[in-house]
Amino acid sequence: FCAETRAFYSLRAPVPLPSPSFPISLPSYAFSLLPSPLPSHPALLDASTGDTISYPQFFSQVRSLTTNLRAHFGISKGDVILVLSPTRMDLFVLCWSLLSIGAVVSPVNPALTPSEISRLIHLSKPSLAFAVSSTSQKLPSNLNAVLLDTPYFKSLLETSPKSFDNMKQVEVWQSDLAAIQYSSGTTGRLKAAALPHRFFIAMAAGYHANRAAGPQVTLTTAPTFHSMGFFFSLRGIALGETTVVLTQERVTVADMMEAAKRYKVTQMTVAPPVVVTIAKSGDLSGRDLPALETVICGGAALHVEAARQFQERFPHVQLSQGYGSTEGGGISRMIGPEECSHLKSVGRLVENAQVKIVDPNTGKALSVGQTGELWLKSPACMTGYIGDDEANAAAFDSDGWLRTGDLCYIDEVGFVYVVDRLKELIKYKAYQVPPAELEHVLHSHPEVVDAAVMPIPHEEVGQIPAALVVRREGSTLCETEVIDYVAKQVAPYKKIRRVLFVNRIPKSPSGKILRRELANYMLCSSVSR
Ligand code: AMP
Repeated sequence: FCAETRAFYSLRAPVPLPSPSFPISLPSYAFSLLPSPLPSHPALLDASTGDTISYPQFFSQVRSLTTNLRAHFGISKGDVILVLSPTRMDLFVLCWSLLSIGAVVSPVNPALTPSEISRLIHLSKPSLAFAVSSTSQKLPSNLNAVLLDTPYFKSLLETSPKSFDNMKQVEVWQSDLAAIQYSSGTTGRLKAAALPHRFFIAMAAGYHANRAAGPQVTLTTAPTFHSMGFFFSLRGIALGETTVVLTQERVTVADMMEAAKRYKVTQMTVAPPVVVTIAKSGDLSGRDLPALETVICGGAALHVEAARQFQERFPHVQLSQGYGSTEGGGISRMIGPEECSHLKSVGRLVENAQVKIVDPNTGKALSVGQTGELWLKSPACMTGYIGDDEANAAAFDSDGWLRTGDLCYIDEVGFVYVVDRLKELIKYKAYQVPPAELEHVLHSHPEVVDAAVMPIPHEEVGQIPAALVVRREGSTLCETEVIDYVAKQVAPYKKIRRVLFVNRIPKSPSGKILRRELANYMLCSSVSR
């Protein structure tokens, strides 16, 4: 902490990054981190089939596909490409190839409904989509889609026309956009966060500087449509690891454990509900996963009791918690056994990060041990929300600090603690559920006069969305009807799981829902189901 600037600086040694004005894409930077000759172990391993792709095969596929994407589809720098697919090995090749050309990858959750997807398309304006047979029907008819699960796509990975071999390399700058990820940020409904190549270069550099010794086999369970999952799907290759990919449409914790056992996984990246399930499941112990060294957990809060139970069951495994966001990348994480023993914290600030802890009422930057909103400056930071000046003005202060909407404090030895969330966001199994989006759906019901959606803590999934609903006079609308009405219009993870009927929603004089009062109000008001 520096008393003069009122900012906290990372205690980790700064990691050198390429000069911001140097033209280099994430794939070129990641390739430069790899040893020569390339690793002899597989780059990717499909846990369902045992199929592998070696490092030389991966880069040969990237070369063919890059040429084909330009030659056959005319994809060029700056084109936004939507990806609507469950995790598959060729998705990694596709993303790497698109990024090499300077195209902007926009991965979307296949669980979303067609109208939810259309709303995202409206924000990011893709010119082409890549999908699989089971997801392509969800795309609007005016967006052309290439199917990944076809012999045609396979052929694009294998050969490219000789006549295009001499295509000029595309110059990609670190400030060019690499990905668009969707997030509700600190307020309101979903927005399109613009993440430049430098965002991912900075993250890759940090992980590379602190990589574990010896060859690593990493099972990544974070979905590629989430910024961390997207980063982790490329990180393993940049670090020369073997990345184990779970390709089932619905992945259970048992599938993860089975893959970890079978392929002698050394690192796993998971969301908190996975740690909770493993910690509570009676049939697993450290002896079942002797190769496992580290479990990297992030995306939402992990209850300290679950972390403790996990450590008792797997004493040889480092449970490395991390904290970050779509907009701000990785903010803090734990490295090594000493840091991993601080179960209540989310680790220390990542390399090259600066943070302020700001009193949300006075705007004053606070000191060590004081709780306030965490503001961030880091090379891994979004450039802004696309086409949304109002949201950008709310997200950044005039000096370029990103407001995270999280209430945190930092102790005297640099550990970060997330205390609460100021922003309007529910995290169900680490997935974002923006209350405003569900309130919009509730308001469209003819018998609903007013509604507010709030999180209720839940041991296994973190938080569940609950609705406070004011019914039209005389209405007999019941909880199940409200739940079903919303469920038909949103992805399954966004479902309302509890409804309470109330007489009014607490609001400010200007009509804004007083979100921080909802929990108390719910307890005090005479509610009926
Ligand atoms: P997302 O943009 O979906 O990654 O969500 C980011 C938000 O998730 C953060 O701003 C926090 O509110 C929450 N979050 C992420 N990681 C953690 C963590 N380790 N502990 C507590 N909250 C977290």
